Amino acid sequence: MLSLTVPDVSSSQAPGYWVLRRRGELRRRAAAFREMLRSCELCPRRCRVDRLAGRTGFCRTDARLLVAAVSVHPWEEPPLAGTGGSGTVFFSGCTLSCVYCQNYPISQMGVGRILTPEELAERMLRLQRRGVHNINLVTPTHQIPQFLEALVIAAEEGLRLPIVYNTSGYERVHVIRMLEGIVDIYLPDIKFASPEAARFCCGRSDYVLQNRRALLAMWRQAGPLRVNGEGLADRGMLVRHLVLPGGLSGTPECLAFLRRALGKSAWVSLMDQYFPAYKAHRMPPLDRRASEEEIRAALEALWRLGLRNGFAQETCPCGGEP
Ligand code: SF4
Repeated sequence: MLSLTVPDVSSSQAPGYWVLRRRGELRRRAAAFREMLRSCELCPRRCRVDRLAGRTGFCRTDARLLVAAVSVHPWEEPPLAGTGGSGTVFFSGCTLSCVYCQNYPISQMGVGRILTPEELAERMLRLQRRGVHNINLVTPTHQIPQFLEALVIAAEEGLRLPIVYNTSGYERVHVIRMLEGIVDIYLPDIKFASPEAARFCCGRSDYVLQNRRALLAMWRQAGPLRVNGEGLADRGMLVRHLVLPGGLSGTPECLAFLRRALGKSAWVSLMDQYFPAYKAHRMPPLDRRASEEEIRAALEALWRLGLRNGFAQETCPCGGEP
């Protein structure tokens, strides 16, 4: 992973949920989110199923916590991984169905186990004791109400790590607004620039519209990544973009949108580790890696646009596995 720049902005601020907890607002927010499960519109699919009654929508999860892994992840971007690693919580299920998903057993096939909020709280506290720098929620959109129940308990017991919201970027602005003060660091994807590519790759032509609206809402809340004297992020937003073969990711257009909408201070993580997984082997051009030329063109677009904050990420040694 090649670091471009790391601004030095010191901060000793407590995570946002710590402040909300003191005002009783964290419990109120958790209750409001839980109520949303009664007719679920947590993501842009707006299935309107009663998950409290055990029904499931596209994401195939009811009102229980379904978690695939809780672990220390050392391979996130340096301001997130630091020296102690990022404390990842991999939620099972997903609001998208990307044909190349590297974690498809977790996202599409329900691999995971039911945890109580108390169990997840204890696991997050264990991560804190192991010295991770944050709690990194991987694909959390459809399980935010369940996670918040655990967060209320963990915060009472002394959890004090920033919350990272690591999302596909397929989000509702309404939900992002409800997360204000709870999420410290937004880590969204910008996956596509065209509705056709989004439909081909993940079955949702509205991805681009919903994604861009959500990115703007996150940016208004969090702004650029804030990194302390030790090089660790405690607030802000870092946008990820995976370069797909055959131009499917619309990399120049995605980066141009970030430059235009967020400005030069936007933090971008440009990733080149795509490999065919899940259904992609049967769907050219997704049946191959991005070529060296395609990666070079993506890097050139990044530099041409003056987006200097962030990373050009080489292949993750974990191969995308939790
Ligand atoms: S979170 Fe799940 S049930 Fe709710 S709207 Fe999205 S896909 Fe449907």
